[in-house]
Formats: sequence, C-alpha cells, structure tokens
Amino acid sequence: MNGDENMTIELLKESLKDFTLPKPEKKPKENYVNVLILRELKSAARFTTDGFEANSATIRIGNIEETVGKLFGRKQVASDRRKAKALQRTLISEEMNKVMGKDGWNGCTMKVNEMCQRCPECALFGSAASEESVSITSRVMYDEAYTIRALSAIVEEFFQNAPGDDYTKKPTSGIREPDFFKEGVLFPCVVTLKDVTVEEVLFFLNITDRNSRYGATGTRFGKTQNHILGVYASHREGPSSLEVTREIALKLAEKVKDEDVMDKDSKDEDVNKALDAKLKQVMYRDTLSVDEVKAIATAVYEELSEKQRIEYNTKFDEKAVSGILNELKDDSVVKSQLAQQIENIKEFVSA
Ligand SMILES: [Zn+2]
Repeated sequence: MNGDENMTIELLKESLKDFTLPKPEKKPKENYVNVLILRELKSAARFTTDGFEANSATIRIGNIEETVGKLFGRKQVASDRRKAKALQRTLISEEMNKVMGKDGWNGCTMKVNEMCQRCPECALFGSAASEESVSITSRVMYDEAYTIRALSAIVEEFFQNAPGDDYTKKPTSGIREPDFFKEGVLFPCVVTLKDVTVEEVLFFLNITDRNSRYGATGTRFGKTQNHILGVYASHREGPSSLEVTREIALKLAEKVKDEDVMDKDSKDEDVNKALDAKLKQVMYRDTLSVDEVKAIATAVYEELSEKQRIEYNTKFDEKAVSGILNELKDDSVVKSQLAQQIENIKEFVSA
C-alpha cells in the first residue's frame, strides 16, 4: 500500500488481518511483520562495550573486506524495552493496577527475573521465569546492525594531552577519550514481529517513533532518529540488517562514475577492480545523503525479498506509516490500543 491513500489505524488493522493474531498464542505460527528502519545519529553517540573502543565488525562487501561500525541487537532491544516500559507507566498504570488486584502493579522493571510478566511489554518482548511463573518467549526479533561507511570514516578518537588541555585528534601520549560515532551515521535495521496482534504492531511502531537514545546508558550521549521506511507482512521472515546494509553500499558504489576511480586507459577486465574502488570511495565518504539512502534501502529490501522468494501481499511505505504515527501522536489513542492489548493477553499471561 502506498501513501497516496489516506492511511489510518483501522485500515492498517484490516490489511494486516491475515498476518496477525486476535490474541497471542503459546504455539508458534508463521506470521511475520517485518519493519525496515533507518536509524540516523542526530548527534555524536557512544556505542561501546568496554567504555572506550567503538563497537565494530569486519564484513565482506563485494570483493572487499572492511571494518564498519556495529550496533548490537541487544542494545537496540534493551533501549526499546526501557522506552516501552516507561510509556506503560505513563499511560496504563491504572489499567494494570486493576489487572493485578489488591497489591497493584509495581510498574514492571528491566531487571531479569523481576519483570511483572503481566503487562503488554512483557507479553511482547518476553521475560525470564520468575519464582512462580514460566518464561515468556520474545516475539520481537532484532539483529546486529552495521554502518554503511567504514569505521575510520565515522568514528572520532579523542586524546587529551593533559588535564585541562584542548582535545586533539592525534594519538599522543595523552589520555585516550572514549570513541564517538559522528553525527550523521546511518544504521539500516530490520526488526521482525512474529505472531503478534495488530495492537502490538502499533505499540512497536510507536516505541520506535518515540525512542531516540541507543547509546551507552551511563552517559546518555547521542540522539538517534528512527525513520520507519516500511512495514512488510508475510508468512516468511525478511532479509537481515546486514544484507540490506551490504546492498545499499553496492548500489551507492554502482552510481559512482568510472572516471572518478579509474584512469581512462583501464580495460574491460578491470571492471571488478573498478567496483572495488567505487565501494571504497563510497565507504570513506564524509557524509551520505539520508534521502538517497532511504530510497535505496527500500528498493534493496524489496529486491532481496524477491530473490529470497518472500511474497508481501501487504506492505506499507514510509508515507503510509507516517499516517499511522500521526494518529499515534495523541496519547489517548496509544492508551486505548494498549488497553485493548491488556484484554488480548489475559489468557496468554495467566496460562
Ligand atoms: Zn511487565
């Protein structure tokens, strides 16, 4: 479905009927709602595990190997979950108090083994078993996300010569400051919702739209904007984040002119070499155009899906999704969807 039609929540519910469930079930089925997201850094961010070094991975693209920046799946899920739980406390505390009875609802928590296991967030994202209950399997699947550009083009290392001195970029004998991912860095991400209700689709889209912090929790550096580029429903899971990132880089490389990377005497057999050189050129750029990457991301996602024999009878583009997100600007609308979801999960969380 494209954005020419006026997209509404009701229309979305109707179109997703064959790929969602009226209520969550314990036995898995094959219903997938794949969400294509481009996460864009709006300010410098820290994605690090040891507190200093930027998270990275070496990946193969075309014929070349390159080290790129990495955003762990578990960091994305932890951040989204914190956001979802905070939103629940804001909007549905009263409704949850009623569900829980005499002792009321404690607001749920991020602590493993202490999650309430009764709220819409626990039902969707899963929770480990506590003393008296069984664990709930997560129905949201994330994977590792990678930058399109090379690590050295997107990370800034700072060194402090002596306390009080200005920062320098040169590795001197000074004190190393934590690595920063520069503003403008892009992470193409695919997140998959499996066997969910339409209310859960709306919950996830709204959380993604609201969430703007994926960096180290201790520092809270780095603002992120999530662009939701498409929602694709199928009975099969879509391509991974890495596959999409790789194809984006290749497509950008194809657009680079031969003469920009090769001297004019080059022969036909240098075609592969030319593509390698173009890839390098793309991956070492100072900036990428967000609009260009958005369009390419959507195109390559759909191409990859076709190659993998994934049929999407139902899809929503960025403009259609933004119609939905606009409706969800009104907190009372979000609240009523969550209240409906509390009803949907009643048997699921008590079984
Ligand atoms: Zn909970």
